[in-house]
Amino acid sequence: MTRPAVIGGDPLFPGGLPFARPSAPPLDRVVARLRPSYERGVLTNGPLVAAFEAAVEERLQVPHAIAVSNCTSGLLLVLRVLELSGSAVLPSFTFSATAHAAAWNGLEPVFAECDPDTFQVDLADARDCLPASDDAAVLVATHVFGAPAPAVEAEAVATAAGVPLVFDAAHALGALRQGRPVGGFGIAEVFSLSPTKPVVAGEGGVITTRDSQLAERLRWGRDYGNPGDYDTRFPGLNARMSELHAAVAIESLAELDANLALRNQLAARYRSALTSVDGVAVQAVADGDLSTYKDFTIAVDEGALGLSRDLLVTVLEREGIDTRRYFWPPVHRHQAYARTPRRDLPVTDAAAGSVVSLPLFTGMIPDDTDRVAEGIARASAHAEEVAAKVRRAAPAPR
Ligand SMILES: *Cc1c(COP(=O)(O)O)cnc(C)c1O
Repeated sequence: MTRPAVIGGDPLFPGGLPFARPSAPPLDRVVARLRPSYERGVLTNGPLVAAFEAAVEERLQVPHAIAVSNCTSGLLLVLRVLELSGSAVLPSFTFSATAHAAAWNGLEPVFAECDPDTFQVDLADARDCLPASDDAAVLVATHVFGAPAPAVEAEAVATAAGVPLVFDAAHALGALRQGRPVGGFGIAEVFSLSPTKPVVAGEGGVITTRDSQLAERLRWGRDYGNPGDYDTRFPGLNARMSELHAAVAIESLAELDANLALRNQLAARYRSALTSVDGVAVQAVADGDLSTYKDFTIAVDEGALGLSRDLLVTVLEREGIDTRRYFWPPVHRHQAYARTPRRDLPVTDAAAGSVVSLPLFTGMIPDDTDRVAEGIARASAHAEEVAAKVRRAAPAPR
């Protein structure tokens, strides 16, 4: 088999294959959409924000969508408005913002395990954490990489423990859990519209909820806690969305179906190209679920592939292929949480140490996925030589 670039072969992508590119809508459509607000001098929280919220409500079949400045501020506000105190049970295998939102609200994170195949929160472990920390105030779960978490099952766990359930749905606008749109589960779900997410605003987020009282307080909360009379009801944020961002978001949302179809096609192509490579497991997505494939993530079995995850990352880099080690390090090992009481999370540690997300963006062609898979197969076929070469060239990554 052809030699990998790291040991002298020709790189598969001499011009480079980026990890992601924002699925940004055409600029002329954004400008046309923005013009009426802009020319009337309405720059924030105007008709475009309302139109975006209405489009999300319709698309996700939820009664309330509240646009915010980003997903992190949305999570902050949800946990603030629920008036919680105590601890927040949440997965460690997620993005840092999930835990930060709890920490900023004075809630102590209690990190739960993840499932080794789906990477979603391990609900049996979460169930154990809920009564164990008898001040548990909330369960927060992430829809990991755009694949829906077991949402109904999570609702049952939260209900049994008597705590609200909030979803970090940053990756999952457009995802379906057994046919039901993500956005309607738990007490609230919070989406991100930052550049790597399936719908983009530049910076932005949107909260969805079925609870009208919560929705009203979230609207106050994004405006300093002000219901309109300047007599703030609680210390809120400025977490409003601007009209400029809403114009981008509306046009991006209009492209979501095409975008999801393409991402799912690319993911299916990756899956079939990777079936012949031993030592690579693709994130499991339950039958009947639709993932946004915000990320296409594999786990490396070092023994079977012949290479560690970190070696594979180096090899792919030399082929011109940009990758990410999402989510490594796992959040419970971040310096930010060094003083949080430690639980042993062996499954999470193993997952975080073996995952790598491969390039996937609209604009990629199916042939690109085949060539990325080819890069992994080449590396495996020449594993010993590659490992010797890379070890000589650089000290092993920690
Ligand atoms: C991107 C991301 C966030 C943060 O979203 P922002 O809109 O950038 O605040 C939160 N959680 C997860 C899982 C993410 O991937």
